[in-house]
Amino acid sequence: MIYRENINYGDDLSLYKYKNGIIVNENSQQVHSNPLMWIEALELFFQKLFFSEINVKSIKAISGSAQQHGTVYLNNKFEEKVNNLDPNTSLVDQLKDSLSRETSPIWMDSSTTKQCKEIREKLGGKKKVIILTGSDTFERFSGPQIRKFYQQNPQKYGNTKIIHLISSFLASILTGKKAPIDYGDGAGMNLMNIKQKIWDENALNATAPNLKEKLPPLTESYKIIGNISQYFIKKYNFSPETKIIAWSGDNPNSLIGTGLIKRGRFAFSLGTSDTYFGYLQKLQFDMKGEGHIFGAPTGDYMSLICFKNGSLAREKIKDDYNLTWEEFSNILNKTIPGNYGRIMLPYFFPEIVPIVLQPKVFRFGFDENDMEANIRAIIEAQFLSMRLHSDWIEEKPKKIYATGGASANKEILQIAADIFKTPIIKYEITDSAALGAAFRATYSYYITQNSNLKWERLIDSFMKEQKQEKINPTLTNGPLYDDMLQIYDKFEKFVLKNAENPEIYRKEFIQKYY
Ligand code: ADP
Repeated sequence: MIYRENINYGDDLSLYKYKNGIIVNENSQQVHSNPLMWIEALELFFQKLFFSEINVKSIKAISGSAQQHGTVYLNNKFEEKVNNLDPNTSLVDQLKDSLSRETSPIWMDSSTTKQCKEIREKLGGKKKVIILTGSDTFERFSGPQIRKFYQQNPQKYGNTKIIHLISSFLASILTGKKAPIDYGDGAGMNLMNIKQKIWDENALNATAPNLKEKLPPLTESYKIIGNISQYFIKKYNFSPETKIIAWSGDNPNSLIGTGLIKRGRFAFSLGTSDTYFGYLQKLQFDMKGEGHIFGAPTGDYMSLICFKNGSLAREKIKDDYNLTWEEFSNILNKTIPGNYGRIMLPYFFPEIVPIVLQPKVFRFGFDENDMEANIRAIIEAQFLSMRLHSDWIEEKPKKIYATGGASANKEILQIAADIFKTPIIKYEITDSAALGAAFRATYSYYITQNSNLKWERLIDSFMKEQKQEKINPTLTNGPLYDDMLQIYDKFEKFVLKNAENPEIYRKEFIQKYY
C-alpha cells in the first residue's frame, strides 16, 4: 500500500513565517533553515499517519530522505534528551534547547567561497580535493559551511557536541540515539575519503579543529541503525520491532527512486535547478571539478551535476513573453532543430556549471525581441550544456529517466532525447527521493530477514506497475546536434575563457543545415 502525505512549510508551519521554509539573506548569499521547523514537520507527519487508514503497527522498517549538504549543530543536551523523549509533550518542546546554532545552512547557500578556497589550498589544490573527497570544494557542501561557522562563531562551535547532516539528525530522533551518516550523504561534505569511505584526517583538519569528535560515524546506507524509540511506540502506536534504516540525502535516494541501479541508467531531474545523475559501477572523477561523486545506496557510486539555471530560467523566459507552458511547448514544436544556428548561453542566474558568478544571457544570431528563437534557444542550450559538461562520465547513458516539474513537458523531453541521442523514459511518479528511501527500507529489512532480495527485482517489480512513456530520439537530428555541441562549446569558451570568436563555425553550421 502506498500512503502519501505532503507537509508544506509555508502553509502547514506558517507560524515560522518563512516563505518555502527558508531564511534568505540575499546580500550575503546566505540561505538557512530552522531545524525546529523540521522537527515540527516530522511530528506533524506522524500525527497525520496516526489518524490515517494505515495500520501503524504493521510498519516493519522506516528510512528517510533529507536535503543533502545541510548541517544541524547540537549541544551537549541533545543525546540525553533524544534518548528520553516524553510522549506527553511535543518533540519540539523537548528538543528546542538542544541546538548550539539556531539555524542550519542548506544546499542553496553560496556564502562560503572564502572557506572553499582555504580548504582547497590546505589540501593541496583542486585535483587533490577531487580525488580525496569526490568533488572540488563547493559552497553548499557541509565542510566549508562548518568552517565558516567555526570562523564566525568559535564559541558556539566550541559548544557544539554533535554536527549532524539533516538526514542523520532526523534519524536520531526516530531511534532516540546518535544516528550515523550514510556514505551517500557523507560524500556531499568534502570531509569523507571517497575511496576508503572514512572521515579523512586531512580534510577534517583543513576544515575546523576537533571536528572528528563532533561528527557521527559513517555507515553503509542499507544499515539498520536500531529500533524505533519509545516516544513513537507510545505516542503513535508503532511496533517496538520497527526497524530504522540509515537515512540518506535526496540525491542518493533519488538515484534509487528513479531505478538507477544498473550500468547505463541515468536521469534528469528538471526541478528548480536541473540535475543530471547516474549509476556508476566504478569510481571515477571529474578532474575539471564541475561534477560530483557520491556513494550510491547499492554500495557503488553515483555521478551528479547540478545546473542552477533550470526551471527558474525556463520560467523566466516563459513569463517574459507572457506565455503559458502550453504556448511555450507549441513554439518548441513548430521551431526547427538547430534553431537556424542561433546560440544562447543561458546564465539568467549565477551558474554552478560552468561557473558564472555575474549572471548574463548571451545571444548569437538573434536578440531578445525574437520570442520563438529565444524559447527554442534556451532549451537547446540547457541540454547541450548538460551533454557537454557530462562528457567526463565514462559510462554512457542507454536510457535517461526524467523526473521533476518540467518532465511534464514532452516537447522539452523530445529536444533532450535528440541532443543526448538517447531514449527518455518518463514515469508517473515524481517523488523519487521519498520513493528511494522507501525502497532502501524495504531492501534492508528483507536482506536482514535472510531473504535474497536483489535490488533489481525490488525496483523493477515496482516500476513495472507504473505508467511510463518513452520518448525516442529523432535519429536524423543526431549529426546536427553533434555539430551544434562543438559550436556551443566554442561559444562557451569564447565568452568565459576569452577564446577566439567562433562566429565562422556558426556560419558554416548555418550553411550546412539551412
Ligand atoms: P523542486 O522540487 O525543485 O522545487 P519541481 O520538480 O516541483 O521543483 O519543479 C517545479 C518547476 O517545474 C516549476 O518551477 C516550473 O517551472 C516547472 N514546470 C511545471 N510545469 C511545467 C511544464 N509543463 N513545462 C515546463 N516546466 C514546468
